[in-house]
Amino acid sequence: MKPLIAANWKMNKDIKEADSFIKNFKNHIKNTKDTEIVICAPFTLLSELKRLLNKSNIILGAQNMHFEKEGAFTGEVSASMLKDIGCEYVILGHSERRQYFNETDELINKKIKAALKNNLKPILCIGETLDQRDNNETLKVIERQLTSCLEGIDEVKNVAIAYEPIWAIGTGKTATPSQAEEIHKFIRELLTNVYNENISQKTRIIYGGSMKPDNAKELLSMPNINGGLVGGASLDAKSFGEICGV
Ligand code: PEP
Repeated sequence: MKPLIAANWKMNKDIKEADSFIKNFKNHIKNTKDTEIVICAPFTLLSELKRLLNKSNIILGAQNMHFEKEGAFTGEVSASMLKDIGCEYVILGHSERRQYFNETDELINKKIKAALKNNLKPILCIGETLDQRDNNETLKVIERQLTSCLEGIDEVKNVAIAYEPIWAIGTGKTATPSQAEEIHKFIRELLTNVYNENISQKTRIIYGGSMKPDNAKELLSMPNINGGLVGGASLDAKSFGEICGV
């Protein structure tokens, strides 16, 4: 399975900054043909990035979408619009969307279904808070999020599952490779139980939470870690290039 390394630029970069990132980034990813690299950018950059990424094998992604096809949903963007502009991936259920925009597992489930219907690959984010971890609730939380978000979905191999412990996002505190592997293995087993061994083995489970050039190699060498979702370190072409090349 080809590893997937996805950048989550969040609400960062204007067109000039994106242009300069891509020019720089292309120089840093000479040896990455065995890695699928995705840049999930703000909506305002998608069109420009599509142009810049033409003839490269860097893939375009978005960070959110509405589940409806079209209509009176002021400020929203649909799956078909993302597809139309050239996106192949979309991040869904990021903890910041759950926290600041009240997204629930039920809503995320509708979004995943709409994305798949439009041939967009969701990167589904799940993960526990520090309190939940301290109260030994991590496995329960992961199981609940995973099963609710994937309810009624049988095309799961087109969904990348991003395990993102909330306490590790943007904090500089990374899960240790063995802490992350324990949860990735648990997610793999859940997928085997809900679907089957074959589907589970073909589904990418990627890690997110303060992944940096100096910790990426160890994390990515764990048997059930099939890539990374990278926030802060993906804003810098050199750092993100190094992570993609490990
Ligand atoms: C993220 O927000 O998806 C993320 C992993 O952020 P960071 O790498 O900055 O922790």
